[in-house]
Amino acid sequence: MKILITGGSGFIGSHLARTFIQKGAEVYIIDNLVTGNKNNIADLDTANLHFFEADITTFDFSVIPAVDIIFHLASPASPIQYKIHSVETLLTNSLGTYKVLEYMRATESKRLVLASTSEIYGDPLVHPQTEDYFGNVNTVGPRACYDEAKRFAEAMVTTYMRKYNLDIRIARIFNTYGPNMEINDGRVVSNFITQAISGKPITIYGNGDQTRSFCYVSDMIRGLSLLAETDGIAGQIINIGNPEEKTMKELATIVKAMVTTSSEIVYHPIDQDDPRKRKPDITKAQTLLGWKPEVKLEDGLQKTIEYFREALRK
Ligand code: NAD
Ligand code: UDP
Repeated sequence: MKILITGGSGFIGSHLARTFIQKGAEVYIIDNLVTGNKNNIADLDTANLHFFEADITTFDFSVIPAVDIIFHLASPASPIQYKIHSVETLLTNSLGTYKVLEYMRATESKRLVLASTSEIYGDPLVHPQTEDYFGNVNTVGPRACYDEAKRFAEAMVTTYMRKYNLDIRIARIFNTYGPNMEINDGRVVSNFITQAISGKPITIYGNGDQTRSFCYVSDMIRGLSLLAETDGIAGQIINIGNPEEKTMKELATIVKAMVTTSSEIVYHPIDQDDPRKRKPDITKAQTLLGWKPEVKLEDGLQKTIEYFREALRK
């Protein structure tokens, strides 16, 4: 089996690469390391791993053979990072997605899974979010470079699917956390944990009443693998995430207690358009994939805390 993972040295991509290498697959990774880290894949079997340090918007895809599954993950994902790399985020998800689709057509590669996001629902007016909800997105706000780019990517892969009869699946990924997140990633779980370990203030943006629902990375990888490997579900768009919803105030309190830190909780201004609530309806994932998350928040956080303790020692 051959697998192509764009963004394969990032947080989720590196876990996917490891899982498919362990299954005996040959894995091709294209990553420009804008937010990824080669250390995440350094110990993987080099004979079965082909790493290309390159930008998917300019890469010459003719060097990659036909594959069984394309996982298209390339894109900054942390709000801090996609706001810094705003134009690149727009181009990666639009031009980059086009290049991946043209490669898929040219090689007759079998399947593509697009890593889309709960951000396509914006600041949702439907709760929990079901896949048939069109969302509430500000097209010109500071998050638009990511939200609209992902919405465009969804439009592009589904248009290609209809026009060229391709096997496309879309994963709408909700907040995921775990080892291999970067220390300076800027997302809430890595921020709270690294702040707590270092004894620095734990920064809540806004009043902390906004909610998110956190999925541990091993559950995410199982969900993405099932989405890619299940037959008869071409064209499906599926939320993958953990429906256990927490306020950021609750998350800060849990992390503070688990790390046993002297860090105080402080409040910073919140950015424009930060969604006030987010929780996936995972009925489709349960019905079509037989998938639901298994890792409890405290268990996933414990593993993530251990990872960051080690990473911060280095
Ligand atoms: P990440 O930033 O750790 O990984 C993204 C990877 O893509 C990085 O390795 C980065 O270097 C690479 N990349 C970015 N632009 C590229 C380009 N032009 N060419 C080649 N490589 C490029 O983020 P992640 O959390 O692993 O997210 C992976 C995917 O899942 C992203 O598409 C993201 O939008 C999606 N997603 C993630 C979450 C989450 O909570 N982690 C939630 C929703 C969606
Ligand atoms: N957040 C926070 N403190 C931080 C980082 C993030 O309170 O140090 C909040 C952020 O405002 C948002 C939530 O945590 O409401 C999740 O933010 P994250 O950047 O992880 O991802 P998002 O879900 O917004 O894409």
